[in-house]
Amino acid sequence: MKAQPQASHYIDGEYVEDTDGTVIESIYPATGEVIARLHAATPAIIEKAIASAKRAQKEWASWSPAARGRVLKKAAEIMRTRNRELSELETLDTGKPIQETIVADPTSGADSFEFFGGIIATAMNGSQIPLGGDWAYTKRVPLGVVVGIGAWNYPQQIACWKGAPALAAGNAMVFKPSEVTPLGALKIAEILIEAGAPKGVYNVIQGDRETGPLLVSHPDVAKVSLTGSVPTGRKVAGAAASQLKHVTMELGGKSPIVVFDDADIDSAISGAMLGNFYSTGQVCSNGTRVFVHKAIKETFLARLKARTEAILIGDPQDEATQMGPMVSYAQREKVLGYIEKGKAEGATLVTGGGIPNTVSGEGYFIQPTVFADVTDDMTIAREEIFGPVMCVLDFDDEAEVIARANATEFGLSAGVFTADFSRAHRVVDQLEAGTLWINTYNLCPVEIPFGGSKQSGFGRENSAAALEHYSELKTVYVGMGKCEAPY
Ligand code: NAD
Repeated sequence: MKAQPQASHYIDGEYVEDTDGTVIESIYPATGEVIARLHAATPAIIEKAIASAKRAQKEWASWSPAARGRVLKKAAEIMRTRNRELSELETLDTGKPIQETIVADPTSGADSFEFFGGIIATAMNGSQIPLGGDWAYTKRVPLGVVVGIGAWNYPQQIACWKGAPALAAGNAMVFKPSEVTPLGALKIAEILIEAGAPKGVYNVIQGDRETGPLLVSHPDVAKVSLTGSVPTGRKVAGAAASQLKHVTMELGGKSPIVVFDDADIDSAISGAMLGNFYSTGQVCSNGTRVFVHKAIKETFLARLKARTEAILIGDPQDEATQMGPMVSYAQREKVLGYIEKGKAEGATLVTGGGIPNTVSGEGYFIQPTVFADVTDDMTIAREEIFGPVMCVLDFDDEAEVIARANATEFGLSAGVFTADFSRAHRVVDQLEAGTLWINTYNLCPVEIPFGGSKQSGFGRENSAAALEHYSELKTVYVGMGKCEAPY
């Protein structure tokens, strides 16, 4: 199986190679096979990408917002037409089953281009401020060259969720995908050019944790949008702050799902499974601490165990497969390490806990795992695992569960399952998170803002709110009379 792109980088509307860069091997997680060899960007490639973006941004920003919007809508249309091919590539890049990628990856990227392409014609309007005789007006203007840095769990979606609002607002983007999943973003760059974007408006360069800092600190870069872990976020935000650059930080989480005793139990189990097992648990907003009211704990666990053990794990290219491997050997080792810690610290293993014996070969498969009797102080209840490991914790009382749910440095997401709507709103009001769900979980359509609070980051992706993070206000005061001075 091969997925070798024409070259490692896509700059100024064409593929570019520089074999002096460190080799990045793209590995298909279901087999461990190397499917492509690419090179990290050298300083020369970084300069080329940023210079091209800087040039292109001037022209792109001079287009009317509606004209930019037409390009983005065209890109959405191309992505939808090529959904199968892009989804297959996403499956090779990440190991996620085609059953998921076909509905969740290129499609959500296309949604983003379509949404921002649609709203931008009216979203860049400013205001007029009367001041007696004088008056002022504001303009919303792009920032310039912006850098996007991606994580490996949603490579195509992240490339689009950052690219669409950035480009809509009139910026040019240099995007660096994760070194673990280097393939998908190159296709997004190709499609934007095919849709009519000027060359250089969206460049993709490869690289790792050595390359990222060179982009962040480049003097011609106005803003950095990172999707990644909290430790990386601290480094990137720190480096950006030292040059007073704008930042958006989409970081990790350890989000709570609270299931009250009046909840529809099957619906709550669906929410908890979606929020722990989708994408083999590699989703930042996952609700990995599931607080279940003691009165329904036994029923909840029995049904959850049965449904978890029925998950079909296997070949991600088989449409019937519901769960693929983890993205890498290293990530699976990390998750297996957490599972061992859970056992050692006294949590009850309900199901899973190891490598499935139903799948053969060298892939990085792991069993969906549920721990019960998890207590707040256990490592598995405190640290982001980023794998299919659900922790079920018991609770009795509303005030107690809110305090415990909030007792974390993270604040990305939260969910509540209950039939009592006043309780639902009262509880979400007190939960400290950026994105919350009532009686569902992990749905992130492009129309709603997405992002975290506390250590999970700041800034918002999606919705019109994202445009504020890719533009700034320019204020013009218009003096209508003679300029007076006291001296
Ligand atoms: P990571 O932090 O290891 O890497 C993220 C990206 O940052 C990669 O492209 C990496 O090359 C780059 N990078 C690393 N060090 C850098 C530095 N010093 N300067 C600049 N760039 C640097 O994260 P990961 O392992 O790829 O992804 C998993 C993490 O991402 C999890 O913590 C997860 O919760 C988080 N995540 C968050 C969201 C969100 O929207 N909030 C979405 C997906 C994933």
